[in-house]
Amino acid sequence: MIRKINFGAGPATLPEEVLKEYAAACLNYNNTGLSILELPHRGADFVDIINESTNLVKKLCGLGDDYEVVWIQGGGRMQFGMIPLNFLPPKQTAGFIDTGHWSQEAAEYTKFYGKHEVLASSASNHYRTLPNWPDIPAGIAYVHITTNNTIYGTQWDNIPECSVPLIADMSSDILSAEQDYTKFDLFYAAAQKNLGTPGVSLVAIKKSLLAKANKPIPPFFSFSSYVKKNSLVNTANVSAVYASLLMLRWIDKKGIAAIEQENNAKAALLYSAIDKSSIFNAVVTRQAHRSKMNVCFTAVTKEIEQLFNDLCKDNNITGIAGHRYTGGFRVSLYNAVPIAHVQTLVALMEGFEANL
Ligand SMILES: *Cc1c(COP(=O)(O)O)cnc(C)c1O
Repeated sequence: MIRKINFGAGPATLPEEVLKEYAAACLNYNNTGLSILELPHRGADFVDIINESTNLVKKLCGLGDDYEVVWIQGGGRMQFGMIPLNFLPPKQTAGFIDTGHWSQEAAEYTKFYGKHEVLASSASNHYRTLPNWPDIPAGIAYVHITTNNTIYGTQWDNIPECSVPLIADMSSDILSAEQDYTKFDLFYAAAQKNLGTPGVSLVAIKKSLLAKANKPIPPFFSFSSYVKKNSLVNTANVSAVYASLLMLRWIDKKGIAAIEQENNAKAALLYSAIDKSSIFNAVVTRQAHRSKMNVCFTAVTKEIEQLFNDLCKDNNITGIAGHRYTGGFRVSLYNAVPIAHVQTLVALMEGFEANL
């Protein structure tokens, strides 16, 4: 079987060596005589998987003993709910930097638990830029930011210092470049983009923030209980955590510096092809705001869009349709996408335009 070139936004492409290892573990995990899909979540083998995954996150993100790392089911949206439930006190307000759909949805979930306020937004220009960083008013319990905007194709390059706890949804750009993760009091990432398969999120929390959570809430929704139980509050998503471990080992082996270099090269290649083209237009024109993970662009007519879609399909390329909210094209360049795939796409774009 020929594997497709997959530029999908998530569940995203995984390295072939990771898939092979996962496939072998599906038949017999680590000579246990059990599949990874059958492995008991409270057994020593899975505790080893959790511990190694957690230690790799700490190492790759440069986190010290003042952080806890946990693995929680439910994806990104579970965190949209858990964060205000745990950390929004009754008389305070959760602050949001609104950079599009995911930050809005995080804010929507917050309404069930208390007050929220949009402190800055780029809604007025359809999220094609990032807003200026706001002054933080009094009474804000924490600020929530989406570091990479998967749907609109913007990404924060420099995260400013924040005077209150800063919480980041890093679902679509975690571990894609060297950066200072200690700016965040909490950061989370649904695994299905840069980190593995759906069904689990990585959450890193500063102990000082954790100490502020004192509302009585059910253990399944409480960060403290995940910390106390080493992520084993219920039957963990064993196979999804294992997929994340394989990805973390893969990232560690390559090194974040090398990954960053490759991600920069992939994004530069594609944006420059779009900028040179007279039939494709980048959605985000401000260089500094462009996402290196999700490159969004349009074709000058619907007809050309359809023709290029068909051409990609004929060439074994999948996952380039823009999000249903935006249309056009979206090419996701997560860590596991090799530069050769981007070269193939760019050559196709250039040949297509030359022959039009
Ligand atoms: C994909 C994505 C999510 C996903 O949430 P799920 O509930 O796991 O589907 C959340 N935030 C961002 C920024 C994303 O890109």
